[in-house]
Amino acid sequence: MLERMEERFNPEAVIEEFEALSRDAGRIQRETLKRILEENGETEYLQRWGLKGRTDPDSFKACVPLATHKDLEPYIQCIAEGKNPSLLTGKPITTISLSSGTTQGKPKFVPFNDELMESTMLIYKTSFAFRNREYPIENGKALQFIYSSKQFKTKGGLTAGTATTNVYRNTQFKKTMRAMQTPCCSPDEVIFGPDFHQSLYCHLLCGLISRDEVQVVSSTFAHSIVHAFRTFEQVWEELVNDIRNGVLSNRITVPSIRSAVSKMLKPDPQLADAIYSKCSGLSNWYGVIHELFPNTKYIYGIMTGSMEPYLKKLRHYAGGLPLLSADYGSSEGWIGANVNPKLPPESATFAVLPDIGYFEFIPLKENTNGQEQERLPVGLSEVEVGEEYEIIVTNFAGLYRYRLGDVVKVKGFHNATPELQFICRRNLLLSINIDKNTEKDLQLSVEAAAKLLSEEKREVLDFTSCIDSSTEPAHYVIFWEISGEPSDEIMQECCNCLDRSFVDAGYVSSRKVNSIGALELRIVKRGTFHKILDHHVGLGAAVSQFKTPRCVGPNNGIVLQILSCNVVKSYFSTAF
Ligand code: AMP
Repeated sequence: MLERMEERFNPEAVIEEFEALSRDAGRIQRETLKRILEENGETEYLQRWGLKGRTDPDSFKACVPLATHKDLEPYIQCIAEGKNPSLLTGKPITTISLSSGTTQGKPKFVPFNDELMESTMLIYKTSFAFRNREYPIENGKALQFIYSSKQFKTKGGLTAGTATTNVYRNTQFKKTMRAMQTPCCSPDEVIFGPDFHQSLYCHLLCGLISRDEVQVVSSTFAHSIVHAFRTFEQVWEELVNDIRNGVLSNRITVPSIRSAVSKMLKPDPQLADAIYSKCSGLSNWYGVIHELFPNTKYIYGIMTGSMEPYLKKLRHYAGGLPLLSADYGSSEGWIGANVNPKLPPESATFAVLPDIGYFEFIPLKENTNGQEQERLPVGLSEVEVGEEYEIIVTNFAGLYRYRLGDVVKVKGFHNATPELQFICRRNLLLSINIDKNTEKDLQLSVEAAAKLLSEEKREVLDFTSCIDSSTEPAHYVIFWEISGEPSDEIMQECCNCLDRSFVDAGYVSSRKVNSIGALELRIVKRGTFHKILDHHVGLGAAVSQFKTPRCVGPNNGIVLQILSCNVVKSYFSTAF
């Protein structure tokens, strides 16, 4: 793959190569599995399952069991402790990635290697090539709200950091960004700074200094862009002052960031006036991104799944600029590229790259009793349009038949490779007895209730949920952080609407007979969700990978505590 990473790449050639691979996806999958098993067949893990040199899909599925992170944890732990770096892969693992861990409450360790880095760059380039056809970029810059946490050494001396950190710190990343003609506006000191509040301020400042050159505004997950412009609303006058006087605000105290950004600043009253007048002319910050960065072609970042609730605010800030949803992957490896950039984020799909891993899909069809039945996984060529699946990954970094925990839906095919829509995390279920509500169900319910709130010109800034089993019967709790102070009547209506909007038959019938108690809506103080973000960052998660946990489990005690300490009001549904 490395030969595809030349300095300036040809988007049409990348597209051609992807077309060829995707036309032959079934064969490429078999070859990819063969390569993975040839390279790693001698490892203790694969030896254990008695493959005896066989590399075909049938033998692989018959011998090697499905695995969760929990199953692999002892192996990864051993590798991290330096006891045996080749337990999972032929080539020793030298780097560990920390997944965001926002689902489980603590970051997970997963192996990272050159192959994962290469597939990351390949997927960036593939989707860029398709994007560039529709929205060409010419020698511009990207205002990227990216943050990288520190890398550290594990007990065994391996380098460890969040997956995004491992990517941003790799020399290939910068090369690829240059090849895509969108280097980041900010210097490395800002991206790699130890304090994300200061990095965010400086990303905004560096973006404003390069205002006319900015062609793309992006982040890994769209939440970071919304967060950045919410912050901009608070600090814009300070930023304008810095530009006017050519002196960086006192809030920037980290010496490396201060010195790098100060070098870029010189007094520019003209620019300061222009920004001041743009901001003063805005109504409720509508279109701020377009006004500040007039040459922006599009806004880019993951906007699907748990990011969908931020789309409304992002559209508000974007003021008509196209929103392009980024690719689908995880710390464990990439899966698919968005090759239909013109689709609105709500309908974005990801075409699986058949040469970056071997993919299987567990059908999630319900049986006639409405219960989910676990079925045998099928291969990439056997999936059916319209069906939902849990995705299973085998990759070049030591994961074999690994349950990623995501549910996807097949929306169609790009040549012979499936185009997936992300549905939700499989384990994010609100469930008390026979009820089953996923992250998506919660999102739909919040959207319906938030509509009532928007009639009063208020908005839901963020939300999450949990099960409260301390009451008899147990009940769902939804936490909302909202703007302004709507009336109690409206909040009661929102609470009832939330309760009614969970349409899962198990939930509705349980509510009717009161085997699930009345849904509770708890309003938390402004800033509570920032505290949750700070807590995760404190645990070593990167802001770039942060996803608000939409359902907080009982073992995520600190987040539950942050939420409960900040409740200002609560309402119980009277809908049933
Ligand atoms: P992390 O744990 O930080 O590696 O995050 C990986 C998870 O983020 C995936 O397993 C998905 O649940 C979610 N994710 C990644 N890409 C997307 C996407 N394009 N759309 C929706 N969710 C995504």
